[in-house]
Amino acid sequence: MKILKKNLLKRYNLPREIVFCKKCTMSNQRPRITFNKKGICSACQFSEFKKKKINWKIREEHLLRMLDKFRSKTNKNDIIVPCSGGKDGSYVAHQLKFKYGMNPLCVTWRPIIPTIIGKKNLDNFIKTGFDHVLGVQKQKTLKRFTALATNYLGDPFQPFIYGQYNYPVKMAVENNISVMMYGENGEVEYGGDMKYAKSPKTDMKIRGKHYFSSMPVQNWKKYGLKSEDLKEYMAPTLDKVMKNNTEQHFFSYYKFWDPQENFYYCKKHVGFQTNANRTEGTYTKFASLDDKLDGFHYYLMFIKFGIGRATSDTAHEIRDGKISRKEGAMLVEKYDGEFPKKHYKLFLKYCNIDEDQFVEIIDSWRSPHIWKKENRKWVLRKKVWDDY
Ligand SMILES: [Zn+2]
Repeated sequence: MKILKKNLLKRYNLPREIVFCKKCTMSNQRPRITFNKKGICSACQFSEFKKKKINWKIREEHLLRMLDKFRSKTNKNDIIVPCSGGKDGSYVAHQLKFKYGMNPLCVTWRPIIPTIIGKKNLDNFIKTGFDHVLGVQKQKTLKRFTALATNYLGDPFQPFIYGQYNYPVKMAVENNISVMMYGENGEVEYGGDMKYAKSPKTDMKIRGKHYFSSMPVQNWKKYGLKSEDLKEYMAPTLDKVMKNNTEQHFFSYYKFWDPQENFYYCKKHVGFQTNANRTEGTYTKFASLDDKLDGFHYYLMFIKFGIGRATSDTAHEIRDGKISRKEGAMLVEKYDGEFPKKHYKLFLKYCNIDEDQFVEIIDSWRSPHIWKKENRKWVLRKKVWDDY
């Protein structure tokens, strides 16, 4: 595996000058986020819009009409819900089944290295009465794929992201179910391409463009993975997807999306449990708990863009009115970029790399416009807590 220096500015089209949003803790280094003239990010602008301008009663009527179109009159599953047993998917599935009378088929793509708490939450969720299928990857390919993705894409999670995004479509086509309900539209809720803000669904023809970081599954062949091994990560052909009249909707379009409220909802309705301690790299306990490797996904995000897990968590908690910007900045100072040491050895072994290679990969993703060396230590050039 060749480890070469990456050009972040070019690869992600990042602005050279780092600017933080005036309202939240997010910076302009998040790919595709935009800022208005007042220095406010697109996610904050959308958050205001969603609180003040959207009539949620009308949106719910819209949801009911849409669901009526697909509702089965027999006992057949009529909607696909991607769900790992986490708070967001479980909330969506539970609402669809018990509030809106649908009969979901819940679909999980197995985490890379599942955690005990994640498995427990998924079991508890299924026991509440859901039909469920689990997609399991070939482990040998997954290991290789995870190592390659860490080096060449700066994200160990990319193989998981392919499967998580594509496997539900496969299940939709195989089971002749035309509608899929995803949770939030991340591009719109957390800052990204805003052209989807006013649409309840995805254009199936260009689906996956952002999620796959401009790296379609088949491109991994050039790094030595074989077509037959990559197949399980791919969606069915567009022809099959269109013949099935497959539609992908976002629940966040129809219902006000608030991750913390989803957590309370799942605690009450599906026996959702959290870790006893906070998650490494942030101060929360309830988000993204199912994979032992997810700390590395967030750590690499921090290396690449200077924004880590605490930045993401504080940014949307500020938007949701749970904490102030100052509190957010302090939490970022305290927790952002904390090294995920708990599963470090496991990660190295899993990817079959040693510590030196790991450090070399990490440093290959540091961009000089974000990082500088002071007393032989890497430090961020610009920090959100400098404002206070
Ligand atoms: Zn903002």
